[in-house]
Amino acid sequence: MARDFSTEPDFQEKLDWSRTFVAERIEPLDLLYGGREFHPLDDELRPIVDPLKQQVRDQGLWACHLGPELGGHGYGQLKLALMNEILGLSSWAPIVFGTQAPDTGNAEIIAHYGTPEQKDRYLQPLLDGEVFSCYSMTEPQAGSDPKQFTTRAVRDGDEYVINGWKFFSSNARTAAFLIVMAVTDPDVSAYAGMSMFLVPSDTPGVDIVRNVGLAGEAPDEGMHALIHYDNVRVPVDHLLGGEGQAFAIAQTRLGGGRVHHAMRAVATCQKALDLMCERVLSRETQGSLLAKKEFMQGDIADSYAELAQFRLLVLYTAWEIDTFKDYQRARKNIAAIKVLTPKVIHDAVWRSMHAHGALGVSNEMPLARMWSLAPVMAVVDGPTEVHKITVAREVLKGYRPSPGLWPTAHLPEKREEARAKIAASVEHLVGNA
Ligand SMILES: Cc1cc2nc3c(=O)[nH]c(=O)nc-3n(C[C@H](O)[C@H](O)[C@H](O)COP(=O)(O)OP(=O)(O)OC[C@H]3O[C@@H](n4cnc5c(N)ncnc54)[C@H](O)[C@@H]3O)c2cc1C
Repeated sequence: MARDFSTEPDFQEKLDWSRTFVAERIEPLDLLYGGREFHPLDDELRPIVDPLKQQVRDQGLWACHLGPELGGHGYGQLKLALMNEILGLSSWAPIVFGTQAPDTGNAEIIAHYGTPEQKDRYLQPLLDGEVFSCYSMTEPQAGSDPKQFTTRAVRDGDEYVINGWKFFSSNARTAAFLIVMAVTDPDVSAYAGMSMFLVPSDTPGVDIVRNVGLAGEAPDEGMHALIHYDNVRVPVDHLLGGEGQAFAIAQTRLGGGRVHHAMRAVATCQKALDLMCERVLSRETQGSLLAKKEFMQGDIADSYAELAQFRLLVLYTAWEIDTFKDYQRARKNIAAIKVLTPKVIHDAVWRSMHAHGALGVSNEMPLARMWSLAPVMAVVDGPTEVHKITVAREVLKGYRPSPGLWPTAHLPEKREEARAKIAASVEHLVGNA
């Protein structure tokens, strides 16, 4: 039997260790230092966080998204999915385990396209967990359609000069360097005319105009920068890959990132369901426990079934990536889980919030914050509509138009064919009698 849903016992032990470690050692960081995850460690946090990172290294779990060529253990996406079902429960866990976005994707593209010098200078500190990085692609006037980007990089002797605006560049305020997408040749198609650059954050002309926050965050505490690149000069060896490779690089980067968001979403939905089940077994109204009300039972059944479906597709997609070693071959399901992610979060967390009544919508439970992930997940790394288009395009590749006027399942024609088949076999039997 080729299907096996069990987890190897050795890796299950690591998962069990991780679950306990996150609950007991990392969750206190979430409660006391939430919001400081992407800031370099200061004198207060370094003595707390560094020993935790060391324990993760000792378990062989540091940066477990990486292959052995980058110092990882090559666990692959399927095991990473199971890990992320645990790490997704905590805002600090990805930092302590060295798997935080967007640094994972940024490391992946430098590893893939970088020169040895670029890897030494930019990749190694990232893998060591000592610096943060930023991916600066979206512009104020265009996000989901990169063909409309106008930030320009012009070669000037041994340098490129970058001018333009970028929006929602996550973590730019604390990043050591930025990966910037810019037009290098406006006279060819956007797919051939854009390039990626490694830009140290302290380069003159990198001007963070403001740090935009998500809804609910204080105006000056956001992590998503509006950046003016104002005559920013970088040496030509800061071009990542070749000129015109930006789209190929962006695709490499986003394939993995989208799956990882979905893996963490499984954790969010499971947590919402866990909280809901505990609540309905604890709260009585109108003469019985909430758990006895059929509306509640329906909500629990819906959350359970939707999460189980979603989780299986996430795991299957991770398995496809491991098996084919090619994000392109897995792109239909990568796009499908990207479409499902905001919906499962929205529905599972909503039901859980609702079961908690006023407490559920309050700031004394984590649910409202979890719920705010739903609209974020619907746009981050490309909006739902764009991914639906990808799913449909990939699905349609497996089909052909019907050869005649009628659909191939048109019953009158099928009956005719069936009659002809039966008549032929009867003739054959009679002929042999
Ligand atoms: C939390 C967060 C972090 C982010 N981090 C980064 C980052 O680090 N670096 C970076 O470069 N960007 C980042 N982004 C930006 C993100 O990539 C963009 O928001 C996304 O690509 C959508 O672009 P947009 O916001 O300009 O929306 P638009 O492109 O203006 O789209 C708006 C809406 O139009 C609709 N739409 C779009 N295309 C279609 C279509 N083909 N058919 C039908 N409807 C459509 C969708 O409903 C979509 O939501 C981040 C965004 C968020 C929310």
